[in-house]
Amino acid sequence: MSMIKTISITLTIVGIVLLAQALKPAYIICKRELNWGWGSLVILISLFILGYLILATALYQSTNADVFDLVVASILFGGSIFVALVMKFSLRSINQIRDITRQEHHHALLNERNRELLARLPSAVAEQEFELHYQPLMATQNNTIEGVECLIRWPHTDGSATATSDFIKLAEQTDVIVEITRWVIRTSLQQLGQWHLSGHKLTLQINISTRDLAVELVNYVEQHIQKNRINPSYLTLEITENLVISNQVNASKILQQLRELGIGISLDDFGTGYSSMTLLNQLPLSQIKIDRSFVHGMEHNKKHMAIVKSTLDLGKTMGLEVVAEGVENAQQAQLLKEMDCPLIQGYYLAKPMSVTKLEQWLQHNKHITTAAAN
Ligand code: C2E
Ligand code: MG
Ligand code: MG
Repeated sequence: MSMIKTISITLTIVGIVLLAQALKPAYIICKRELNWGWGSLVILISLFILGYLILATALYQSTNADVFDLVVASILFGGSIFVALVMKFSLRSINQIRDITRQEHHHALLNERNRELLARLPSAVAEQEFELHYQPLMATQNNTIEGVECLIRWPHTDGSATATSDFIKLAEQTDVIVEITRWVIRTSLQQLGQWHLSGHKLTLQINISTRDLAVELVNYVEQHIQKNRINPSYLTLEITENLVISNQVNASKILQQLRELGIGISLDDFGTGYSSMTLLNQLPLSQIKIDRSFVHGMEHNKKHMAIVKSTLDLGKTMGLEVVAEGVENAQQAQLLKEMDCPLIQGYYLAKPMSVTKLEQWLQHNKHITTAAAN
């Protein structure tokens, strides 16, 4: 066999292999995009390969001209590469378009859900659809429950609930958050007053948002502290640095007025923002809460351990109380106790609970022993 003939046949074989490569994307496109059944696909693919072979063989046999064979083989080979590439890129583009469409659909659904939630919030406030849950904070020095943080919940009549951070983030985009905060302050301070009357001298931590930081907040808190005969030193308001940063001067002024009433101010989720250190210097704080992302895994993560330790040192040097959030196991609790972290909070102690559950829990955990915390 001549050299040219050998090259022609080799090109034809490689061409078939290339076409075989194009079969998978072709199959996916036909099946998924065109909704073709198995039978029609097999027939199509068989015809395709058969056609190629017949064409190649017929052309080789129709002439004895070796050069003509090579030209035909090269054209078929080039065609195979073309088909293989077209199939591959078509499938890739189809997949990309699908992904984008899926993402757009997801965003559209999310926006629709958010719009719906946002529209429902004012009536939820008016109808008092919210509930408050309380999560205990334990003093590590004597293992006693020092206080609770109140965390809002939005249960629905069908038994479901909207995740707190989801609806709080939405509410924070409008003034509805101010109404929510007022409800939280009113309800939790009334509850605190009752606990104090019944002998539970707990402290209370309330989360507030940037839109709340106005003179009206100071008046509202003062009014409800007095109404419920609460010593202001039992109340701490929690702010997050991302919220304060937008209007720091105003925030600082309002927080100072609250401090002058005798109320504590805590910097929540400490270390997660860009300017934790600046805020430490500029805001009238009494407490910092180490974000749970640093407490998470601190027992075997040296970096987390170092962050927790230096925040505790920082707190000590600056005369600030430090709370470690998100304590989930005995090892973390023990390490924090050994590092003189004054207060811990997290699922290890208890999850946020309704008033009834918290009162039962307090009955059983009046004094959490060292053994339990170890
Ligand atoms: P946050 O103030 O940092 O509250 C702590 C969050 O961590 C709570 O989530 C709590 O349930 C959760 N948590 C506590 N211990 C653990 C733990 O050991 N492990 C883990 N994985 N999580 C733990 P929640 O209740 O969903 O609240 C989320 C955020 O929503 C709060 O973060 C706070 O920023 C905001 N928020 C909650 N209630 C209110 C409110 O009444 N007003 C405002 N403005 N914001 C609120
Ligand atoms: Mg908080
Ligand atoms: Mg936090």
